[in-house]
Amino acid sequence: MIRLSKSVLSEADFQAVDQVLRREFLGMGPEVREFENELATYISGDVQVVCVNTGTAALHLAAQAIGLKTGDEVLIPSLTYVASFQAIQATGATPIPCDVNLETGLLDLDSAQSKLTRNTKALMPVHYASYPGDLNSYYQFAEKHGLRVIEDAAHAFGCLYRGLRIGSFGDVVCFSFDGIKNITAGEGGAVVTKDRTVVEKVKDARLLGVQNDSEARYRGERSWSFDVVEQGWRYHMSDIMAALGRSQLKRFERDLKPVRVRMAKAYRENLSDCEQIKLFQTNPEEVVPHIMPIRIQNGKKTEVQNALKDADIQTGVHYVPNHLLSLFGSGRPRLPNSELLFGELLTLPLHPDVTETQVKKICEIIRTTLKRG
Ligand SMILES: *Cc1c(COP(=O)(O)O)cnc(C)c1O
Repeated sequence: MIRLSKSVLSEADFQAVDQVLRREFLGMGPEVREFENELATYISGDVQVVCVNTGTAALHLAAQAIGLKTGDEVLIPSLTYVASFQAIQATGATPIPCDVNLETGLLDLDSAQSKLTRNTKALMPVHYASYPGDLNSYYQFAEKHGLRVIEDAAHAFGCLYRGLRIGSFGDVVCFSFDGIKNITAGEGGAVVTKDRTVVEKVKDARLLGVQNDSEARYRGERSWSFDVVEQGWRYHMSDIMAALGRSQLKRFERDLKPVRVRMAKAYRENLSDCEQIKLFQTNPEEVVPHIMPIRIQNGKKTEVQNALKDADIQTGVHYVPNHLLSLFGSGRPRLPNSELLFGELLTLPLHPDVTETQVKKICEIIRTTLKRG
């Protein structure tokens, strides 16, 4: 079977985790501190990194730290994982689904503009399929309208924008290290920012709001006398997760990134002359693709899906537009581009164990199925 996505671990990863398992404390400790420091060095740009237990928790705490609360509104593309919507809603604020651009699958600023109100407080662009698009235009829009920006960069770990690493600039940037992302910590996430207030708030909020407990935990201790002034959660990362994350980060540039880049390129080459298939715009020089979504434009998506399934090849759909979900609007108001894409989208296998032969085989099946009248 060819999996859609996969956690690909090495002997070095196993050993890194094994070392931590033999220590006397498995919770949040010095390993998390090291992972945060190494992430900050990798991303660069004088940012601070705070690790948490999921990407969703990173988005939630970032949203809380910029002060989002009941009554506030956040503009967000409908075409994202439900995690982004739930993270906003968890603060009491309302995610306002906006339409996306058909060429990129990214937030469409005309749609966002039309949904601005007095209550709009933030913009959450999502780097769909790891492509940040014209990120500057999002920041310009935010500045013009006095909005904070939280980048959902769950797909975009290790990507560049105009030569700069995603996370090294901007307002608040959130990554995910769940099992199938560009690097994994088992589960995990990170809030990355230069805003010291956000850093301090997220550090406390990940440990139930216990003030300065992060510093004690980094030393392998914990606070016994403390105050709590804000709502907090049990969202910290464990040393086990951090050990895996550190090992994956070490392997990223050499082992993990090149395969993703190469295989996405192979898909593009193999499908480029296929008229019924449209590929999303991207920047192969700067993007490390987490997923490989394609658009099947002649209504034969189900046939293709089934043909691949018969050949034991998994596919996916990224994503059900959130405005179609009961909790976020049940399809009202309409967002035509997101709905059109939903009918066409199919995601093909992409992970560090996919081979060029597999990509060729997958594309051949797609081609044959589309030719069949
Ligand atoms: C994976 C993902 C998240 C959430 O990350 P988790 O670590 O799985 O909680 C958020 N947004 C997008 C677009 C994602 O793909």
